[in-house]
Amino acid sequence: MASVTYEHVWKAFGDNVVIKDLHLEVKDKEFLVLVGPSGCGKSTALRMLAGLEEVTEGNIWIGDRIVNDVPPKDRNIAMVFQSYALYPHMSVYDNMAFGLKLRKMPKDEIDRRVKEAAQILGIDHLLDRKPKALSGGQRQRVALGRAIVREPAVFLMDEPLSNLDAKLRVQTRAELIRLHKRLQTTFIYVTHDQVEAMTMADRIAVMRDGVLQQLDTPQNLYNHPQNVFVAGFIGSPA
Ligand code: ADP
Ligand code: MG
Repeated sequence: MASVTYEHVWKAFGDNVVIKDLHLEVKDKEFLVLVGPSGCGKSTALRMLAGLEEVTEGNIWIGDRIVNDVPPKDRNIAMVFQSYALYPHMSVYDNMAFGLKLRKMPKDEIDRRVKEAAQILGIDHLLDRKPKALSGGQRQRVALGRAIVREPAVFLMDEPLSNLDAKLRVQTRAELIRLHKRLQTTFIYVTHDQVEAMTMADRIAVMRDGVLQQLDTPQNLYNHPQNVFVAGFIGSPA
């Protein structure tokens, strides 16, 4: 269980300042969607939280500790990416168990976690299969399963549905909402898709050019956009 706080965070790549004074408090167990046009800095914001990019200035908090200098594996988070590489030579079971084996977790605990995650995701009948025998949607579930078995306090997802076709995307959205309720953990979900944000989020953070524009519930954003950009992006009536 954990809240997440970006405390006046800046990120620069050389002269290119891509995150500008981001101050954002994500509540414990919240489903927060970070949305904005391509290139606005969403992935960078998430990657700093995951420890895959350094913070240039400011602090990132997970729960009650500053994690700027904490290695990724000690942050109690799990991240699901847009392109999820499964190990082709391993079964679904072994793909999901792999990270836990690396941590030298006892076998029966690994077994319990993999089976429970597979059951939650509806892939318990696929545990013996190799990834090539799965559909795109099933593979995406395995990728989610790999994250779930770690039982993280915070789930990070970077456009996890963008490789799926439209129908499957809609279906998977609903499953992720259920998954969030079931896991009772903090979800931070990045997308450039307004509809995805509006249908999934407890609250939406709208970003533009590295600047947080507004943070609010879908309903309040729609009814009370703070500026023309937010109105246009969310599709509020003029
Ligand atoms: P988004 O995920 O919203 O599409 P990104 O966070 O990927 O945006 O990128 C934000 C900006 O940061 C872009 O201008 C991108 O070119 C730049 N950027 C991202 N990662 C790097 C990097 N490793 N090195 C240099 N520039 C980067
Ligand atoms: Mg991105």
